[in-house]
Amino acid sequence: LIEIKNLNKSFGTNHVLRGIDFTVSQGEVVCVIGPSGSGKSTLLRCVNLLEQPEEGQVFVRGEDITDRDCHLDDARKHIGMVFQQFNLFPHLNVLANCTIAQTTVLRRSAAEAEQVARANLDRVGLNDKVTAYPAQLSGGQQQRVAIARALSMDPAVMLFDEPTSALDPELVGDVLTVMRKLALDGMTMLVVTHEMAFAREVADRVVFMDDGVIVEQGPPAEVIGNPSHERTRVFLKRVL
Ligand code: ATP
Ligand code: MG
Repeated sequence: LIEIKNLNKSFGTNHVLRGIDFTVSQGEVVCVIGPSGSGKSTLLRCVNLLEQPEEGQVFVRGEDITDRDCHLDDARKHIGMVFQQFNLFPHLNVLANCTIAQTTVLRRSAAEAEQVARANLDRVGLNDKVTAYPAQLSGGQQQRVAIARALSMDPAVMLFDEPTSALDPELVGDVLTVMRKLALDGMTMLVVTHEMAFAREVADRVVFMDDGVIVEQGPPAEVIGNPSHERTRVFLKRVL
């Protein structure tokens, strides 16, 4: 579903991604772990073209979204993204946050957009908050709205960049529960996370990144349970 080939990205002289190759299959849940500054967010942002890679290609459903001829909105339409900071529109209520892109980008009617939004807010357990504004919600609730908003676009894949790291500890569980449910529903997910318990339990594959390269990847029991590289062991010792 996603295929990344020889992805390279620099910021000035800082070579942040150094030839990343990997794929995410339909229905697969891939967790990306690694130290701060290793390039995890940059990788995700390249998949969504929030950053333009300077070398390499990203295919989504077989289409090269890094190709010049590829229309940005069309490429992004199939990709849902959830950030560490929830990035909701503060001046729109919960329902409007979940309908606006549906009507503007997907050209859905207001009625259809509302129906889809309500179904997804139901899915994340927030159907009683449709008229609330982001500032009236807890961080965990805001993050679940962000997930519902992304799901309302019927994405082929969901990207998560440390979706729980900005949350108070007692709110983390609700968001992880929603993500676990999504994974069980068969959603294709690429998740940057520091939640090792979540990665162990939910991921089909764990990718360990360090210094702009993929050091190792495999089933969680291997990469987290029995890593084969020293760099992975050092990292895990710090976070576990
Ligand atoms: P963290 O776990 O702290 O979120 P990360 O693995 O997500 O780290 P990135 O955010 O991808 O790391 O950053 C990788 C490197 O790229 C860092 O050295 C960072 O300073 C640099 N970088 C990221 N975004 C930019 C930018 N927009 N401009 C310049 N440098 C950047
Ligand atoms: Mg990051």
